[in-house]
Amino acid sequence: MTRIVYVNGEYVREEEAKISIFDRGFLFADGVYEVTSVLGGKLIDFEGHFVRLTRSLSELQMVNPITSEDLLKVHRELVQKNSVVEGLVYLQVTRGVADRDFAFPDDISPTVVMFTQEKSMSESPLAQRGMKVISIDDQRWGRCDIKTVQLLYPCMGKMMAVASGADDAWMVHDGKVTEGTSNNAYIVKNGTIITRELGNEILSGITRSAILRYANVAQMKVEERAFTVEEVISADEAFITSATLFTTPVVEIDGKKIGTGKPGNVSKRLREIYIEESLKTAI
Ligand code: PMP
Repeated sequence: MTRIVYVNGEYVREEEAKISIFDRGFLFADGVYEVTSVLGGKLIDFEGHFVRLTRSLSELQMVNPITSEDLLKVHRELVQKNSVVEGLVYLQVTRGVADRDFAFPDDISPTVVMFTQEKSMSESPLAQRGMKVISIDDQRWGRCDIKTVQLLYPCMGKMMAVASGADDAWMVHDGKVTEGTSNNAYIVKNGTIITRELGNEILSGITRSAILRYANVAQMKVEERAFTVEEVISADEAFITSATLFTTPVVEIDGKKIGTGKPGNVSKRLREIYIEESLKTAI
C-alpha cells in the first residue's frame, strides 16, 4: 500500500514526494531528525521529541520552522491517513536548498519531511530472546548530542554487528562505552542501573530520560557514569533504550554471556513499566 507522506506543507503519495538534489541534507547531511513512536494509534513522548528537535536545530544555527501544535497536527494527520496503530513517525528538517557551498546560506527555507513506518514494537521477539552486541571503536564526530542525519558510521557499526552474527554494536570511546548505534546503553550491577552521563559523546535519549524517571519512581538505584566493556561482561544484566525498541535486554557482548545470558529482571520490569506508562500518557 502506498503511504501518504508530508513534504514542505503538503500531503502527497510517497511516489510523488520530491526533494531537490541541491538540498543540503543530501549534499552535506546538513539536517536533523526525530523518530516518535506510535502505540495504539497515539504518539509517545511527543513533547520530548519536539524539544530535542528545537535544540538540535539551534546547535546548528537553525530555527525550528514549525510550532509544537502544528507539528503535532501533522503527526496525527499522518498516523490517521496511513492507519498506523503501531510504528513510528519519522521527521527530518534540513537547512534547505542552495547552490553547493560549505558556508551556510542565510536566506533559505528549511526542508521539512515526515513519513510513517509500521512496526510491531510491543510484541518483540528481540526483547524475548535478548540482543547480542559487539564492541567497536566509536569513530563518530564530537557532537553526538545533536541528532543529525549523518549516520554512516552507525550504519557501518550495525553492519559489523550483523557480519559477526550480533544484533548491534556498542561503541567505545577512551575505553568507555558511549552508546549503541541507535540506542542508549545500560548495565545493572548489584541492583544499580548504570548508564553514561549526558555530554557531547551521546544522544540524550527521550526514552532514556523516561526510563530514568520511572526507575527513580520505582526506587531503583541509578548511577549516571561511563562504564567499560569489562564491566559489561561482569554485569548482572544489560539493556538498551530507544523510542522504537523501548527497553530491550542485552544478553551477550563480544560472544561473552552477560549475567545468566538471559534477559534480566530489571530490564524486563522497566520494559513493562515503560509500555504501561507510555500507553497512559500517549497523545
Ligand atoms: N543514541 C543514538 C545514537 C540514537 O540514534 C538513538 C535513537 N535515535 C538513541 C540514542 C535513543 O534515543 P531515543 O530514546 O530518543 O530514541
